[in-house]
Amino acid sequence: DREIERFHEAIELVRVELKRIRGRVSEDLGDELAGIFEAQSLFLSDGTFLERVEGHIVDEKINAEWAIYETATEIQAQFDAIGAEYLRERSEDLRDVCRHLVRQLRGIHLHHLSEIEGDVVIVADDLSPTDAVRFGRENVVGFAIEHGSRTSHTTIIARSLNLPAVSGLTDIRKRLTDQAEVPIIVDGSAGEVVLRPTAEVLRGYRHQISVLVREEENLLEQGRSLAVSTDGVEVRVMANIDLPEEIDDAVRFGSEGVGLYRSEFLYIEKSPAMPEEDEQVEAYRRLIEAAAPHPAIVRTYDLGGRKIAREVMYTHEENPVLGLRGIRLTLARREIFRTQLRALYRAAVYGDLWIMLPMVTVVEEVRGYRAFAAEIQAELDAENLAYRDDCKLGIMIEVPAAALIADLLAREVDFFSIGTNDLIQYALAVDRNNEHVTDLYQPGHPGMVRLLRQIARAANREGIELSMCGEMAADPRLTPLLLGIGLRRLSVSPRKVPTIKNRICELSTRTCEDMVEQCTHLATGAEVDQFLLDTTGAVHSKEGST
Ligand code: PEP
Ligand code: MG
Repeated sequence: DREIERFHEAIELVRVELKRIRGRVSEDLGDELAGIFEAQSLFLSDGTFLERVEGHIVDEKINAEWAIYETATEIQAQFDAIGAEYLRERSEDLRDVCRHLVRQLRGIHLHHLSEIEGDVVIVADDLSPTDAVRFGRENVVGFAIEHGSRTSHTTIIARSLNLPAVSGLTDIRKRLTDQAEVPIIVDGSAGEVVLRPTAEVLRGYRHQISVLVREEENLLEQGRSLAVSTDGVEVRVMANIDLPEEIDDAVRFGSEGVGLYRSEFLYIEKSPAMPEEDEQVEAYRRLIEAAAPHPAIVRTYDLGGRKIAREVMYTHEENPVLGLRGIRLTLARREIFRTQLRALYRAAVYGDLWIMLPMVTVVEEVRGYRAFAAEIQAELDAENLAYRDDCKLGIMIEVPAAALIADLLAREVDFFSIGTNDLIQYALAVDRNNEHVTDLYQPGHPGMVRLLRQIARAANREGIELSMCGEMAADPRLTPLLLGIGLRRLSVSPRKVPTIKNRICELSTRTCEDMVEQCTHLATGAEVDQFLLDTTGAVHSKEGST
């Protein structure tokens, strides 16, 4: 009886909670989204749901939390068996309601960030890229995270928001034992977090901030010049864009076009709503026009993996990073991508748009995409809508097998962009999010040097464009290696553009080529790093090491 009573108390509390959330969402995001919470609260008065939970409590003598869990699992299994789209949404709603109920029963209270006054540093065990975007737009000024590394998407997003982030801080939450406010310094450049700094340390950091502000002026100046090596070779330095607000920075810091637009963040940010076609046309148009006279490379949604989107991922995957992600998902869930492709081909009329496919592993994926695109174009024709079908099509090279068949893939597309963040993770079998193996995440690993050389040779032999948009491109210590391998286009986060341009101006591509030749005889990543340091000298600008 006591458990049934607890269950009913929780129902009433959740009803109030959902009403409050509905009000807030309706104010901030409109009635359509608020409707989701309306639908969720219907479960709280659903006779079947209530009876089943009570039945489990009475028959099995289990507590309310367990009974809710069992009931939810049963109902979801029934919904899944029917397989209708509508029921899939109901199933998600049910899961959310059950989470609220169990949280109430366990006395876990949710706080909203706006309850805190002043600047906030998020200290967490882990943070999804979506949370990072959402928090980053509130009063958050930095992230200190236990999991992850400098190439995790959460860290990449923090960089996009121009917020310092340090990850891989194994026991930071334990060290913050008291709940009282404590001063905390997040030094993204050094990859350090200082808890309860002394007055002297604070003074030192205040001084450092003023130096950084002054340095920004110099960076803006450097960004305006071209990146030409000492032997007269011009290298294009483009921008990686994750969030629309970065476009202005890309232009300010002198990027020559957009080398990677991670379009999935359009989707992730709007979730659970879907970005509409016209809205996407506008977003791509803005990007294309800002990039002009250079190209804007838009990558089709790279969802799946850690960038889970509940609306598209119907499946639970044991190992999502090796699962239905990138182009695999594009071809499997065409109804979602149809809208994106229509928007892309329509936006192409505004300038030089290049379309890029993520996670390509087999040639058939490129051919499958082309067939899909032809269908979309026929549709646009039939509707008399203006579009362009001659934009360049390229792929990310981020799977080792794609690197190994780069010559075959090069015959199918107009350009490659090397995604080292994933390529390193897959080639070295080192999870890019796992702080326990960051030592093994080695861009200079001899295996990586060989793979990169092979990709560059294939691209050059087939005469297609080649660029690199992984974080490796943004590390000035590695620029000599990349120039020596043959890269002439690099894409980095907007604020890194001047640093990389500057670095290129210090180097000779011929010397870099000789260096790469010598690098191939070295046995370890550490030897490669040391060799680069010895032959080209230390990098003057401060290097971020989050
Ligand atoms: C990469 O894998 O290098 C890349 C640029 O894509 P993402 O970081 O979004 O996986
Ligand atoms: Mg990738």
